[in-house]
Amino acid sequence: MRRNLIFGALILLAAAGFLSAAEEVNPLLIPVKPAKLTPLKKEALAWVDAAMPELARLNDEIWRNAEIALEEYRSAEALASYLDKAGFKVERGVAGLPTAFVGTYGSGQPVIGFLAEYDALPGLSQETVSSKKPVREGAPGHGCGHNIFGVASAASAVAVKELMAAHHIAGTLKVFGCPAEETVEGKVFMARSGVFDGLSLCIQWHPGDENAVSLESSNALNQFEVEFFGRTAHSAGDPWHGRSALDGIELTDVGLNFLREHLQPTARIHYVILDGGGAPNVVPDHARAWYYVRDLDRESVEKDYERVLEVIEGAAKMSGTTYKIHFKSGVHETLANRAGGEVVYSNLLLVGAPAFSNEEQAFAKAIQKDLGLEDKGLTAKIEPFSLPEKSWGSGSTDVAEVSWLTPTTDLSVAFTPLGTPGHHWSAVACSGTSIAHKCLAVASKVMAASCLDFLAQPDVIKKMRDEWTARKKGREYKSPLPADLQPRAVPRKEG
Ligand SMILES: [Zn+2]
Repeated sequence: MRRNLIFGALILLAAAGFLSAAEEVNPLLIPVKPAKLTPLKKEALAWVDAAMPELARLNDEIWRNAEIALEEYRSAEALASYLDKAGFKVERGVAGLPTAFVGTYGSGQPVIGFLAEYDALPGLSQETVSSKKPVREGAPGHGCGHNIFGVASAASAVAVKELMAAHHIAGTLKVFGCPAEETVEGKVFMARSGVFDGLSLCIQWHPGDENAVSLESSNALNQFEVEFFGRTAHSAGDPWHGRSALDGIELTDVGLNFLREHLQPTARIHYVILDGGGAPNVVPDHARAWYYVRDLDRESVEKDYERVLEVIEGAAKMSGTTYKIHFKSGVHETLANRAGGEVVYSNLLLVGAPAFSNEEQAFAKAIQKDLGLEDKGLTAKIEPFSLPEKSWGSGSTDVAEVSWLTPTTDLSVAFTPLGTPGHHWSAVACSGTSIAHKCLAVASKVMAASCLDFLAQPDVIKKMRDEWTARKKGREYKSPLPADLQPRAVPRKEG
């Protein structure tokens, strides 16, 4: 009896504990109400709906182009001429990058930027079907949805431009055509050449598998290649005459793997060997490898990088070789902006998540089945807006550079089935279908509506800029690039 009483009390206590856990609110949650549907916003949303046939066509054209970093000649031109026709003044080939451009409309303050990306990924060619089937084996494909990215950014700016013209609204809009995001290059060179200077704020988004506005940061990064030079010899006949360049790489990698333990746990080092010699019976006199050094902020990456350089120096001494460092690119960590995020999130709530049809959901589920994932389809919900659980991220992006030059907002709109990997054939398949068009429409509407709020509310811009200044903690933007480093020149392909 007594035991039963104790048991009963325990059950009651457990139930009470369960209830309080279920009722517990996420302390990181930021409550945001849907934005108001003003008459101007109503017009903007209707403009996007009416423009969808043309926007979908542009999306599909860039999807078919599928040009990789710095080769985006046709894709950049498609967006630049779209902006030209819409009444923007377009400057092509900015910052020494033939496939970068800036389209400007209007005059005076505020100056609002939109980031457009359009590079594809190598080797991901894929038809719009739910299992792996390349259009052309080994060819590039839009595995990160940058075709949707570029068109939605340009479209939202044009939508706002139409309203500014019709209603005599003051301000300047700038659409930045940013090449080579996948190689973390484009915006770094654009930032160094001052292309992003003078902005009041910048609106940015990325297609994904969720509808959300994130306040997470991203890792800072240095990426470089190292080339080792040795002396060749017969590997069996007279190896003592040889000095192996591959030994230089291998000793570097062994050294780095020991170094990891004595770096902060936030540091990430990864590498691939691009050239390790030709044959085992020839001592390689040349070898080349590519390294990423990441950490939670720029200062940490610079410290880690110094130590990595010392390991390389040591490896050269041990192997009796010489070496040359080829710095490729570097980025900062992203500075999130909560004040700007609240505006974008309130407009995401206003516009709503993309409404995918049964057919589109069936396509998404077929992909998930093919990949052995739970067939949850495409998300229909909007993720809660909250402070990040950690203030640093795992990936790196050149959007970070812009976030150091002006307050920059974030937005993600769904186009891939839940849980599917990024940079994958399944994302290429989705970004060429009506799923992408729905994602595009929602992203364009949310960004256009947010831009209208920013134009109408100088106090919000002030709040964003105050927050941005505080986050910088007195640090001013300094390009991670060596002063003499020029962008890679990739000539236009014939045909
Ligand atoms: Zn991307």
